[in-house]
Parts: sequence; C-alpha cells; structure tokens
Amino acid sequence: MIPFELTIIGSGSAKPTLKRKASAQMLTYGENHFLIDCAEGTQLQLNALKISLMRISHIFISHLHGDHYFGLIGLINSLHLIGRTKPLYIFGPEKLAEILQIQLDASETKLRYPLVFNTLQANGKQCILDNVHLEVYSFPVLHRIPTWGFLFNEKLPERNIRPDFIEAFHPNFDEIHAIKSGADFIDTYGNSHANHEISIQHDCRSYAYCTDTAYFEELIDYIKGVKVIYHETTFMANQVERAMATFHSTTLQAAEIALKAGAGKLIIGHFSSRYPTTETLLEETKTVFSNTVAAEDGLKIEL
Ligand SMILES: [Zn+2]
Ligand SMILES: [Zn+2]
Repeated sequence: MIPFELTIIGSGSAKPTLKRKASAQMLTYGENHFLIDCAEGTQLQLNALKISLMRISHIFISHLHGDHYFGLIGLINSLHLIGRTKPLYIFGPEKLAEILQIQLDASETKLRYPLVFNTLQANGKQCILDNVHLEVYSFPVLHRIPTWGFLFNEKLPERNIRPDFIEAFHPNFDEIHAIKSGADFIDTYGNSHANHEISIQHDCRSYAYCTDTAYFEELIDYIKGVKVIYHETTFMANQVERAMATFHSTTLQAAEIALKAGAGKLIIGHFSSRYPTTETLLEETKTVFSNTVAAEDGLKIEL
C-alpha cells in the first residue's frame, strides 16, 4: 500500500509561540507532497522536521488570515534560490495571486520556476485536482472572511496479492498486473482461483482539513464518511460565545461535526495560546468523540 501520511507542521492559532507554530500541515501520498496552509516559520519547521522543500508539489491556502499564509512568500523565494525548475501549483483565494505578484514585483524577482495559481471557487464543493491516485476537493467553511476546507480522497487502490498465493503459484508480471486489476487466475492445471480469494482490497483512505470555522453543519455533507478529519478547536466548550463571536469552534462542536460526518478519527488543533497544554481540550473532545488526537508540531499520523 502506498504510504499516506500527515505531518503537523504548526498546531497553534493566531500568535506563534516557541512551542506551537501557526497552521501548516504536510500531506504525502506517493509523489504528491501537499502543503496545506503555510504560516510564518513553515519553511524552518520543514527544515527542522527534515522535510525537503523541493518535494512540495502543491500548496493549498485556506484563507488570508496571516496565521495561514504569512510564510508563503518566504517559501516561494527559497525555492527560487535553491534552484527549483519544476512548476509549483498553488490553490488559494483570488486575492492571494495579486499579493504574491506585488511581493515578487517589488523585489524584482523573476522566479526560475512556473508558479501555477488556481483560484478557489465560492460555490459549494468543487473538485480542484484529479490525478492517478487522488481527488482533491475544496469546500467553503464559515469564518470571518472567505475560507475553504479541503478533502483528499484516495481513488480505489489496486488490489494487493496475498503473499501465500505468490509463493505457491509464482504468477508472472502480466498475471500479477491482471490480478491487481481484478482478474481471476487459472493455474497450470486449469483450476480457476477467484480474485477475492487471492487478493485483498483495502478501503479508500481520505482526509478532510477543516480549518478556521464556526460550527457549520453544511460541512457534514461535504465530508460525509471521511476516514480522518482535522477540525479546528480554538476554544474549550465554556468559551462557546467567544467562539461564535470570532467564527471559531469549541472542542464539543468539532467532536459533533466528526460524529455526524461518520468520521473514523478526529485531529484537533488551532489551539488558543491561552491553553498551555492540550490535555483538557482532548479530554473534553473525547466525551463526544473518543478516537481523537491533539495536533502537536511535528506529529506524524498514518492515514
Ligand atoms: Zn487561524
Ligand atoms: Zn482565520
């Protein structure tokens, strides 16, 4: 199975601290190296975590609050300085293209690589990327300014052949290919082996990134059945009014969205700096959704 892995780069909210940087995550699947949000300090965090900047293929920016994109121009410039030539694909709000262009023009920087910009659309759930392995969707969330979440769906992976079958029958290259695509196998004695007996089909994996948002039930339809969901939890439940006023969510609200969406696992993050540790946030979330983990800078999660 191709590894599908999430690394939390920054797990805090607006103000970065020495312990928690602001929002950024790295999602990898084969050659897909997706950076999701890019707060100030993201490239240093990537260096510290020994994640190569050069491998980033696509960047997804959820919205234009600084704690989600102030690291982007620095990262773009570093890629230029270290000699990138392959295109970099950016998905973000319309104004972001303009902001980046102003910054590049002001320093008379002509990038050595193509920056391919894709504007996120306001109307509902949109497929923004479709390649051999994955489909990526954007969807609006409910925040003070236009903001999007992202859903990464694995396409049906090829079947894995059972090791005991390979050992017993030594299928050749073409036969392996056929079995992986769903064909039955006829052995040298003419006996037929049904595909489901000799191979295993894994479930499709998926990940939803639900960034800065107030409690927003429309999300449930957008991400129904997702395997792993990240949902912001800026506040504990006793701050529900403050959460509403600032278009953020509480622990219990994030848990309720995960539950109603039928998610398998919940990751909470974007914690207010008023909380020195995540213990109480995690405990409270688990009262509604038990399979929850708290994001920490550097945490890796197999999806
Ligand atoms: Zn934020
Ligand atoms: Zn925000």
